[in-house]
Amino acid sequence: MKLFTTQQIRDWDAFTIANEPIDSIDLMERAASRLTDWYYENCERYNDITFFCGIGNNGGDGLVMARLLHLMNFKVKCYIVHFSDKISEDFKQNLSRLPKNIQCYDIKEENDLPTIEEDTVIVDCIFGSGLSRPPKGITQQTIIEINKSNNPVIAIDIASGLYADHYSTHFQTIVEADITLTLEVPKLAMLFPENDKNVGELNIIPIELSKKFKEETPSNYFFTTHKNVQQIYRPRKRFDHKGKFGNLLIVGGSKGMIGAVQLATKAGLRAGAGKTTALVPACGYEIIQATIPEAMCISDPSRNHIVASTLVSKYSAIGIGPGIGQHEQTQKAVRSIIEDAEKPIVLDADALNMLSKNEEWWSLLPKNSILTPHVGEFERLAGIQFINSFDRLEAASKMAQDCEVIVVLKGANTAICLPNGQIHFNSTGNAGLAKGGSGDALLGIISSLLAQKYKPYEAAILGVYLHGKAGDYASAEKGFESMVASDVIENLGKAFFELLK
Ligand code: ATP
Ligand code: MG
Repeated sequence: MKLFTTQQIRDWDAFTIANEPIDSIDLMERAASRLTDWYYENCERYNDITFFCGIGNNGGDGLVMARLLHLMNFKVKCYIVHFSDKISEDFKQNLSRLPKNIQCYDIKEENDLPTIEEDTVIVDCIFGSGLSRPPKGITQQTIIEINKSNNPVIAIDIASGLYADHYSTHFQTIVEADITLTLEVPKLAMLFPENDKNVGELNIIPIELSKKFKEETPSNYFFTTHKNVQQIYRPRKRFDHKGKFGNLLIVGGSKGMIGAVQLATKAGLRAGAGKTTALVPACGYEIIQATIPEAMCISDPSRNHIVASTLVSKYSAIGIGPGIGQHEQTQKAVRSIIEDAEKPIVLDADALNMLSKNEEWWSLLPKNSILTPHVGEFERLAGIQFINSFDRLEAASKMAQDCEVIVVLKGANTAICLPNGQIHFNSTGNAGLAKGGSGDALLGIISSLLAQKYKPYEAAILGVYLHGKAGDYASAEKGFESMVASDVIENLGKAFFELLK
């Protein structure tokens, strides 16, 4: 799914109005009726609803919702927040359409601020995604009142006060929503952790904006959907044989960290590689052999850490880093694997930390190699700490473009930055993945897909999606706290299976 900036979304609305064609008031009616349907399907039991509407189009959406929900016998009340004198035409018209028996009050000054009743759901439609200045005066006061209340809050399109495409610093004056119903596509700011308390649970409400505009308007931002990964995924055919699915090598482990390479190897197998081999220090050899009968194992001459490289040309993909440590001799071995590799490789964990310390390794990395840093590892690679996610993401994308690598910046909504400037946000996964071992499983999955001849960008997008999806299945079974990386790996099969639906 392509993501757009605020300006592009404004153009998208205008294009839809001109080309469908549809009057803007009817488009507002359509959007609000989709929002109303969502409310009815998901919140039917919450009968008492208080709308806070601005006087622009976001407020107009709110007025239509209020009318439709009133007709469905919900108890509805509206407050109109007068943030300026410029009232939108569609807002005016919908105000005149509001049934007389809906209570409707103006908020123009402090004395107008209501006492919010205890059992009402607040629907926030003061500002939409076009906001570019922090809310002031009476709007600011209204937002503070909403946030002071303990009522559930649903934001329409975007929490009022939140900037859609850049960093917001005025956190006290942004609505803290429990649920956001965003129209057509998520807005960039909704994908970043610092805005979590303003966004809450994110739901995308399709309102049938023009397909033609979506196809023809360029954007570098994407949100990976089920349909997108289905297009990447290649199911196995009846006469396929194991030679077709590659020869994967996972390099990692050190004393006390054999579990990491064990998880990556298991994940590599479960993600479909034809043959999987682990290269581990001697202390890990028996562990791998005894616990993963399907894998082959090469023992390093050294007992506690890897010191020797291997013949890399034998393998169709190599994943390096899980539990590998940063011993000086290990660094030499890793450097020589990178130097010898002729195809893209996958680097994680301490292999990334070694790269941070060895500037000259960058030029040795095969083009389109995949780096999978979490925020801390990325900041070490970049040599800077970032205070906001927008700047961090921009730096990750620049790294991907300048160094011709794929940067998989991990976290909730993992961002996959490609050398061509595209950024693909993942849509699966949950906080149960925030646990040691999850990253090792991801390395195994991505390397395994690479071994199966998925293109590097496909392996990254599909791998991150499958890992998150398997994590969602694992959390449904075990819960966020109890699920572990092994559960994620066990559930990979279900995640693949779902791609066939
Ligand atoms: P470490 O590297 O610290 O030993 P690890 O390898 O398990 O631990 P990461 O490398 O950070 O941890 O990988 C964690 C994985 O879990 C990543 O794929 C990340 O995207 C995912 N993840 C972490 N937190 C969340 C979250 N809150 N929501 C969704 N996915 C998450
Ligand atoms: Mg990790």
